[in-house]
Parts: sequence; structure tokens; C-alpha cells
Amino acid sequence: MERKAPRIVMKFGGTSVADLDRIRAVAERVRAEVEAGREVAVVVSAMAGVTNQLVGYCQALSPLHDAREYDAVVATGEQVTSGLLAIALQTLGVDARSWHGWQIPLRTDDAHGRARIATIDGDALISGMRAGQVPVIAGFQGIGPDWRVTTLGRGGSDTSAVAIAAAVNADRCDIYTDVDGIYTTDPRIVAKARKLDKITYEEMLELASVGAKVLQTRSVELAMKERVRVQVLSSFADGAATADGETPGSLVVDEDEIVEQELVTGIAYSRDEAKVSMRRIPDRPGIAAAIFGPLSEANINVDMIVQSTGEDGMTNMTFTTSKSDLGRAIALMEAAHDEIQYGELLTDDAVVKVSVVGVGMRSHAGIANTMFRTLSDRAINIQVISTSEIKVSVLIAAEYAELAIRALHTAYGLDAA
Ligand code: ADP
Ligand code: ASP
Ligand code: MG
Repeated sequence: MERKAPRIVMKFGGTSVADLDRIRAVAERVRAEVEAGREVAVVVSAMAGVTNQLVGYCQALSPLHDAREYDAVVATGEQVTSGLLAIALQTLGVDARSWHGWQIPLRTDDAHGRARIATIDGDALISGMRAGQVPVIAGFQGIGPDWRVTTLGRGGSDTSAVAIAAAVNADRCDIYTDVDGIYTTDPRIVAKARKLDKITYEEMLELASVGAKVLQTRSVELAMKERVRVQVLSSFADGAATADGETPGSLVVDEDEIVEQELVTGIAYSRDEAKVSMRRIPDRPGIAAAIFGPLSEANINVDMIVQSTGEDGMTNMTFTTSKSDLGRAIALMEAAHDEIQYGELLTDDAVVKVSVVGVGMRSHAGIANTMFRTLSDRAINIQVISTSEIKVSVLIAAEYAELAIRALHTAYGLDAA
């Protein structure tokens, strides 16, 4: 059947629904879109701080808690918001109802705490929208193969929203947050950060994967695969509906939609890093396997790796992992001491990873060198380096994070005029 009304998915993050006044403001914004003649589905996050509190409860009871029960607990944050927003909409005279993941159903695999979406049945949501009812969907959650509640990893409501947009064939997925778009770097760190009207899926994916939390990495991956048009915009700005085709925020688009491509698009950072170094290892084949085998078996993600071997036949190995995995990584390396025979095990979690991203790196040399020179001019020591086709990352002491990001932002000509 031919569809006339534009269909949009509106997603509201934690700060956008932080209290009842914010929820009322969101309801007004949804009403404006409905009154402008659009079919709207809404995806909500938990109220700001709630997910952290719920995670804290699980951790306080048992650091090694059952991941299935963790999901049962943390999924409730979004359920509360979906019910509250449905009430707020009804109060404004807008027909609305809440949807939990299992009611849709939004099916996932069984990787509790970081589940991947398998399928979404969009039929019930579409019939609701056609009948003029706004579905208010609890983000971040789904239902596993064994009918247990799952969650999609921190920041996962973005992914819920993009997946719902694909499932209901929406014209656009609007991600409302506490900044008015995607910037050249975190605008809370660099006042001169510049808002990007458009960014490619590929660059946004890379920025998200190295720490730009404005969009969850998987949401960008999914948008790219399903060709969902994603817009990031502020829920704090004026609440009037936008005219058709008008996009006040930042759009994530295909490369061919970008007229002028900068060499460097953006800079991201991640504080969730920890460094492990093993010194004075007698060098021989099998060292890397002896180190990284047990880590991978324990499902510990290793990010950057550097090995340096001296002329004395001794080698040093350094790798990074997330802060939350550091304790387990240390225990595994201590257990493997007899096999690896390192002289010394050192760890440091006062580090930050700073990354420069841009598709221009494919065709231009010297971008990495600008990074190294800029940091050296500020006397900031680079501890580890890693590169990909469109990204260079360095690990530096956490205390220099802001200084480094600001200096790089200026060095690459990204500062707003
Ligand atoms: P929400 O709760 O709405 O999901 P998040 O806190 O997850 O919001 O993401 C929004 C935050 O992302 C912003 O407040 C900002 O500090 C941060 N951020 C990091 N990098 C960027 C960037 N390049 N552009 C915009 N925001 C960014
Ligand atoms: N509430 C979840 C979190 O804080 C999901 C989200 O907000 O996207 O991680
Ligand atoms: Mg988020």
C-alpha cells in the first residue's frame, strides 16, 4: 500500500528524559511531529543516571553476577521511561502506548549484556502508527532465544532506534541528545569544536569505535548496512516540528553526499583504557600466543599491541584493554608467568587513547606525523601507537588528554572560526 505520511523514529537519550519536566518537554516535541502529519515511533533511554545505579546494585551484590539477571535488572530503566512518556503523551491528548522489547518482539542472540539484534517484527508497530497511535519503545533491550531479557551494551538505545527505523521502514531516525549535533570532537572538551552538517557512515563508525559516545558503534554499523538516514540533534532546542526535508542537526550519510571532504574529520578519545606491559621476556616463538591465547579465551578484548625486542634476545610486550577487564587480565598474566617467563609485569590505568579519524588519510601522507609532532611540541609522551586505514590512535597519560585533544584540533585546522 502506498504510504503518504513521512515516518520517523525519534530517540531520546538519558539526559533528554532526566526528570518529569524533561519528559513533558519530550512529549510536546513528539506531539508537534504528530501534528505536522508524521507517523512517529519513539525509542527512549533510562532516565539519566538510572542505568549506572542499576549496574552498581548488581556489582555491589556480586562482581561476578549472572549476566542474565544483570539484564533483567538493567532493562527496567528504559521500561519506566517508556511508561512515563506514554502517560505524558496521553495527557497531551496524543494516543500512545509503551512497548517492551519482548512485546514487539525485538529478538537478539544470547550474549547477555552485549546482545546483538537478530530480528524485529515491525508489523504491530506499523499498524499502531497507521491507526494514529505512537509506540513508545523501551530502548536497549530485547528478548533472547530462550525468552530471557537481554540488553544491547551501554549506549544501546541508539542501536534500538536505528534497528526499529529499519524494521518499520522509516524515512529517518532522529537521535535527540544533549548536544545539537555531531562535532569535530567532544564539544564538552573543546569549546572550539565545530558542528558537522554531514558525516559519512564510515567516519562516524570509526569515531564511535574509538570513543565518540554520541552514537553507539553498533547503531552506526546497522545504519550503514540498512541504509537508515540518521540525524543527531538536540532535545533542548526549540521544540517546534521541523519542516519536511529540514535537518537542523548532523546527518550521517554516504560518502557521495559529502561535497567537500576534509583530510581529518574528527578527534575522539577513550578513557576506558588500561595498559599492561611485560618486560624482559626471553624471546622465542609462541610468546604472543602464550599471552593473547588466555586473554581471548577469557573474552578479554585487547586493543593496541606493541612488541619491542632488544639485541640481548629479550623482548617487551605491551597491550591495552578496557579498565573493567584489567583485573582479570592481570590475574591471567600472573597465572601464565611460568610459561611466559617475564621479568616484570607493569600496569597503568591512568591512560587515555586519543584518535584522529579521516578518510583523507587514504590518499594523504603526513597526517600521522602532524599528530606526533603536535604532541611532541607539547612534551606529551606517546606510549603506544596504532593505525588503521582512516585512523591514527595514540595512548598517552590521562592528565594530558584535554591538552592533547585541543592541540590536535587546532593543528588539523578543525577549530571553529
Ligand atoms: P544520550 O544520553 O543522549 O545517549 P550520550 O551521553 O550517550 O547521550 O552522548 C552525547 C554526548 O556525546 C555529548 O554530551 C558529548 O559530550 C559526547 N560526544 C563525544 N564526542 C562527540 C562528538 N564528536 N560530537 C558530539 N558529541 C560528542
Ligand atoms: N540506558 C542505557 C545506558 O545508559 C542505554 C542508553 O542510554 O543508550 O547505557
Ligand atoms: Mg548515548
